[in-house]
Amino acid sequence: MKDSAHDPLVIRGLEFIGPMATPTGWRPEAKWPEVAFAGRSNVGKSSLLNSLVRRKRFARVSNTPGRTREVNFFLVNDQFVLVDLPGYGYARISKERRAEWKPLIEGYLRTSSALRGIVQLLDVRHDPTADDRQMIGFLASIGVPTLFALTKIDKLTANQRKARLTTLTDELAVSEDQVIPFSAVTGEGRDELAAAVVSLIEQPAWRSAATL
Ligand code: GDP
Repeated sequence: MKDSAHDPLVIRGLEFIGPMATPTGWRPEAKWPEVAFAGRSNVGKSSLLNSLVRRKRFARVSNTPGRTREVNFFLVNDQFVLVDLPGYGYARISKERRAEWKPLIEGYLRTSSALRGIVQLLDVRHDPTADDRQMIGFLASIGVPTLFALTKIDKLTANQRKARLTTLTDELAVSEDQVIPFSAVTGEGRDELAAAVVSLIEQPAWRSAATL
């Protein structure tokens, strides 16, 4: 067991508060700060969220039939809202269905007065896909504070790891402090991610409701 005295994010309460199914559909009131998590299907988002909140099957809620294409909101510690965006870019569906994520994800991000920042997941072993590039381009266009969690880092050797971190930070044109190497298997990066989430929610909203 980890010493919870050093845990930047001790989870005392975790509650599913509902889904957003359409760009103009229900969403939580803006009274809690929101931090959103995005990535393509299979990038390791469920595993990362389970590790972040230290619950084995937390993210299962978002993976139940009907929920996978919704934005799912969870209230954490009565303190902030964790926003699980639908995984995009599933390779084995048609091009039209693959584009379905855009209106909902972009609609949510465009109209979020409570959003403090976003954690964009990328599999450290692969270059960003076309869908990832669209997503990252969109995040840059709205200017939301963005962190990159590079998942499955345990699958690389020390040398590969160094090379991939250099390649990805160059490719994304970000500084190293925006990038968190992460492994749900070893737990590497969990506390760093938790601390980063806490500092995001402590910041003022990056845009005011008036500019929406
Ligand atoms: P999601 O579709 O983005 O929610 O991805 P999942 O969390 O369901 O993970 C997809 C696959 O990658 C599963 O087989 C996981 O066991 C595996 N996986 C996820 N995270 C890690 C990781 O950090 N290390 C390793 N080795 N495998 C991982």
